Amino acid sequence: MQILHPFAGSIQQYAEAISDPDLYRPDHCPQCAAKQPLTGHGFYRRTLVDPAFDGVIRVRRYLCRLCQRTVSLLPQFALPWLRFSLAVISLFLVARLLHGRTLAAAARAAQQTAMPYQRGQFWIRRFRQQAPALGVALAPLASSPPVPDFVSRALGMLETVGWIAAHRFLFSQLRAHLLGWPDSLAPQGRCAGLLPAAPSA
Ligand SMILES: [Zn+2]
Repeated sequence: MQILHPFAGSIQQYAEAISDPDLYRPDHCPQCAAKQPLTGHGFYRRTLVDPAFDGVIRVRRYLCRLCQRTVSLLPQFALPWLRFSLAVISLFLVARLLHGRTLAAAARAAQQTAMPYQRGQFWIRRFRQQAPALGVALAPLASSPPVPDFVSRALGMLETVGWIAAHRFLFSQLRAHLLGWPDSLAPQGRCAGLLPAAPSA
């Protein structure tokens, strides 16, 4: 499983900090009853696009000796299943949906001047679909602003709470994703592929 690692520094500082497996080692397993610290289990690599970064980052993995399952510590600035960071997507959505900028101007606000407009439209479509659920899910953290539509309400709450804090809460408490899970990872971020049917005898 993935848990969010509340790392607040730069991506460069993150890369240095996770070199030490002891620094953020979970002291118990979040998936079973094991109470002993997890064992370092290497890294996986993923791409990340941030306003000031476009490249590959390593994500630290640990193994539980009891249940044999792995836990990876995804830094909180990265979004599960999306290549683009929370900063890029939030800058884009705020510019387009809250301030009414054009798609091109919103892409510039997110420092993604060369990005295809379809990418922004995809984020907007996903966010619109998620907005009613986000408003409900974030109710414990922020009061609902008096606005007429779900999208403005969810954006207002995210701006109040802070996008990273809100996403951390959604992810750790509800396994919810700001832009919703793709069908291939539903429900709640777990792979939902079906095994091929067994041949009938
Ligand atoms: Zn375990």
